Amino acid sequence: MTQDTFRALMLTQENGAIHAEFRQLTNDDLPQGDTLVQVVYSCLNYKDGLNVTGKGKISRFFPMVPGIDLAGTVIETTSPAYHPGDPVVLTGWGIGERHWGGYAQRARVKAEWLVPLPAEMTLLHSMAIGTAGFTAMLAVMALEEAGVKPGDRDVLVTGAAGGVGSIATALLARRGYRVAASTGRAETHDYLRELGATTIVPRTELAAPGRPLESERWAGAVDTVGGDVLARVLAATATGGAVAACGNAGGANLTTTVFPFILRGVRLIGIDSVTCPTERRRAAWDNLARELPADVLDRMTRVEPLSRVKELCDEIVAGQVRGRVVFDVNA
Ligand code: NDP
Repeated sequence: MTQDTFRALMLTQENGAIHAEFRQLTNDDLPQGDTLVQVVYSCLNYKDGLNVTGKGKISRFFPMVPGIDLAGTVIETTSPAYHPGDPVVLTGWGIGERHWGGYAQRARVKAEWLVPLPAEMTLLHSMAIGTAGFTAMLAVMALEEAGVKPGDRDVLVTGAAGGVGSIATALLARRGYRVAASTGRAETHDYLRELGATTIVPRTELAAPGRPLESERWAGAVDTVGGDVLARVLAATATGGAVAACGNAGGANLTTTVFPFILRGVRLIGIDSVTCPTERRRAAWDNLARELPADVLDRMTRVEPLSRVKELCDEIVAGQVRGRVVFDVNA
């Protein structure tokens, strides 16, 4: 990087196909915004995988700098809320989709999208958390607000070895829940137990079609898979339980009956991390800073150079990434 240029991954579209390549940009190339950030780390989320591989329609226009999360330091800002040198985190708000995102050494954004890096959290750990961890925390908060408490019954996490699932497993275990972790990968069982899962549920057990109501097995659930798995989870959720639906890694359609809702009072709660209001966003980050110690995050995270982004995007879309990947955008 020379003083005036910086590296960015750029998505372009030609004849319907997405191309991803690194380019050198200047500050003048960046979109409008009141705050210029020196990006230090970004990370890999399922949505980034869909975006960079072109397997999902994520970018709203082209060229687009992908990367739905970033962490770095403020270079310049006209916002009274921040000053040059402040460490900041940005997850969601449409960066990498509707506004250039974090797979670049610099980003120009709106100050209102930023969260100050929580005290005692490093920039690296903030991206080990990223949208995945933030979403996991929103899901856990939603379950507790719906009245799910630690007790005899398990709380289920589906897609448990993925990013959202790994962090949800660790958070629930630390809050005293018995966590049942559902995974399709046998090689992740020890890893999930280390994160605090007490029961492992093979993915196949939840994938087969079930009955409209099954025995009451789950006090609640964090579901990252959607589709038929979510229908099975709802059917086996206990009276008064709640299911936080975060994802669609296994399918977007939901075919179910009203019985879990009208006969057991089960609640299905949607989680949207992108437009989560600022006050709740800060509360979730404060909880994450308190509840996810560095050693727990390190156990589920690896740091990769941004130069490997394309192959890692292929891997996450194929369901092959375990836990979290942080990108060093300067490598
Ligand atoms: P990951 O790829 O890290 O995790 C997804 C996990 O789902 C995989 O690791 C795998 O878990 C499981 N999985 C993958 N494919 C299938 C399949 N075909 N059938 C069943 N299970 C499958 O992704 P993320 O953790 O980043 O995201 C998870 C989901 O949450 C995605 O759909 C993403 O779009 C969504 N999401 C939503 C957010 C929101 O605001 N609502 C924010 C962040 C993510 P295992 O190997 O353990 O079986």
